[in-house]
Amino acid sequence: MKTQYELISIGSGSSGRKVAVSLKQAGWDVALVEGRVEDHFGGTCINTGCIPTKALAEIAHKGGSFEQAKEHMKKIVERIRSGTLRRVEQKIGVPVIRGFAKFIDPHTIVVNGTEYVAKYFVIATGSEPAIPPIKGLQGVDYMVSEDIFKLEKVPERLLIIGAGRIGLELGQTFHDFGSDVTIFEGMNQVLPGEDKEMAESIKEHLISEGIKIFTGRFVDEVRKVQNEDGSTEFEVILKDGPYAGSYRGDSLLVATGRKPRIKDLGLENAKVTVERGAIKVNKFLQTTQPHIFAIGDVIGNPMFTNWAGYQAEHLIKNLLKSKDNPEKWEPLKMPSIPRITFTYPELASVGLTEEEAREKYGDDVVVFKFYNKWLGKSMIVNDWTGFLKGIGVKGSNEIIGAHLWGVRTGSIIQMLVLARDYGLGWKELSEMVYGHPVLAEGIESLSKNMIQKLGLKDY
Ligand SMILES: Cc1cc2nc3c(=O)[nH]c(=O)nc-3n(C[C@H](O)[C@H](O)[C@H](O)COP(=O)(O)OP(=O)(O)OC[C@H]3O[C@@H](n4cnc5c(N)ncnc54)[C@H](O)[C@@H]3O)c2cc1C
Repeated sequence: MKTQYELISIGSGSSGRKVAVSLKQAGWDVALVEGRVEDHFGGTCINTGCIPTKALAEIAHKGGSFEQAKEHMKKIVERIRSGTLRRVEQKIGVPVIRGFAKFIDPHTIVVNGTEYVAKYFVIATGSEPAIPPIKGLQGVDYMVSEDIFKLEKVPERLLIIGAGRIGLELGQTFHDFGSDVTIFEGMNQVLPGEDKEMAESIKEHLISEGIKIFTGRFVDEVRKVQNEDGSTEFEVILKDGPYAGSYRGDSLLVATGRKPRIKDLGLENAKVTVERGAIKVNKFLQTTQPHIFAIGDVIGNPMFTNWAGYQAEHLIKNLLKSKDNPEKWEPLKMPSIPRITFTYPELASVGLTEEEAREKYGDDVVVFKFYNKWLGKSMIVNDWTGFLKGIGVKGSNEIIGAHLWGVRTGSIIQMLVLARDYGLGWKELSEMVYGHPVLAEGIESLSKNMIQKLGLKDY
C-alpha cells in the first residue's frame, strides 16, 4: 500500500471528511484516516451525536417505545454511515486508512504500525466528554452520551449531571420514554451561556412535564450504594444549602460538556501546540506547524457540526486558491452560528443574549417578545408553547440577537442567520411576503414589532 500522500486528513467527521473528499475531487492525492471505521465512520454527528439523539427524541415525543425508537435510530445511522463510507471510498476514491493515527514527527504519522508521510495534514479528531472532578465519580460506572445508545432498557430513575444541550435533550427524551429524570446543574441556569429568560422558560416547561431540575448546585459527591435486596444504585449527594440531600437512581449520565480529542495523537512529536486543552490555530486554521491544519471540535468551542463543516469549507477554498502561498488565503471570519437545542419544542438562537446585549449596548437595547399563542399555525399544529424574542439597538436595523422557542424553530432561524450575515435586518424581514399559514409568520410579526420599537417605522 502506498504510504506517501500530498495531504492526510485525520478523522472522518463533518470536518475532516469534507476536506479529504473535496480535495480528492479537485485532483489532490489525499488519504483519510479513521480510528473507528466499523462503528463511527462519518464521525460523532452521524453515529453518536446529532442524528441518533434526534432520532430517539422524535419517536419518544410521539409516544413511541424505546424499542421502536432504537430501531428507527439504528436504521438511519447505519444507512448514513454505510452510504457515507461507500461514497468516500468507492465513489470518490479516497483511500481510507483504518486505525488511530499518531504523529511520530511533523511529517509522519503511524497507523497500526505503518508509517504514512504527507506534505500537509489536517487534524480533525473531534471531541470527547469532559468529566468533572466530582468526588467518587471515577469509581462508578456512569454513562456518557454515547453509552445511552447501548442501553437495553429504559432506566427507571435516571440521574443526569449537566443541563446543557445534551443533558436537556436526553433528559426529556428519557422522560418521554417513562424514566423518572432528575437533572443537576452547577451553574445558575440550564443551558449555561444562553439567554437567561429563554433558559428559565425552558426549565419551567420541563419541570411542568415532570422532570426534576436543580440549578445553581454543583454535585458534591457520587456513590454506588447497595440496597437490602443486593441491587445497587447510584447516589448523587448535594451537601448543605438549597436542595441538599441524596438522590438515587438506577442510571447516571454525565453530560457536562466536551473537550477536544487530542489524547495519543503524538502532538508533541509533531511540535503542534495545545492551548487551554485545544489545538492552537491561526486565522488560516494552521497549527504552530504551518503544514498541519486543525479544524472542527478539536480546536475548541463552539462545538457544532455546522461550524466544523464551515471551517472545512474555508480551508478547502484557501487550499484550492493556493497550495503554498498564504498571502492568497482569506482569514476565517466568525459567521453567525445558529445554536439549536432540540428539546420539544426547540430553542433556536443566533447572536447575543439579552444579558450580552445589555452589557455591550446598555440602555439602548430594545427587546420584543412574540408569543406563539398569537399565531394561527401554532393553533393548527396544536402546540403554542413558547415565544420568539428579538434583540436590537435603538435606531439600528441590525439583528443583535434572536431567540426562538417553539415548534420546529430550528428550521426558521436560518432567515435570521442569512439576514445577519448579508447586511439585512429587522426591516427587510418585516417587508417580505410570508407564506400562510406557516410558523415562519412568527418572524414576520416579531420583525414588524421590532421596527416599531426600534423607531425604524417611517410611515
Ligand atoms: C450527543 C451529541 C449531540 C450532538 N448534537 C448536535 C446537534 O444537534 N447539532 C450540532 O450541530 N452538533 C451536535 N453535536 C456536536 C457535533 O457532533 C460535533 O460538533 C461534530 O461532530 C464535530 O465534527 P468533527 O469533524 O470536529 O469531529 P467528529 O465528528 O467527532 O469526528 C472525528 C473523528 O475522528 C476520529 N478520530 C479521533 N482520533 C483519531 C485518530 N487519532 N486517528 C484517526 N481517527 C481519529 C473519531 O473516531 C471520529 O470519527 C452533538 C454532539 C453530541 C456528543
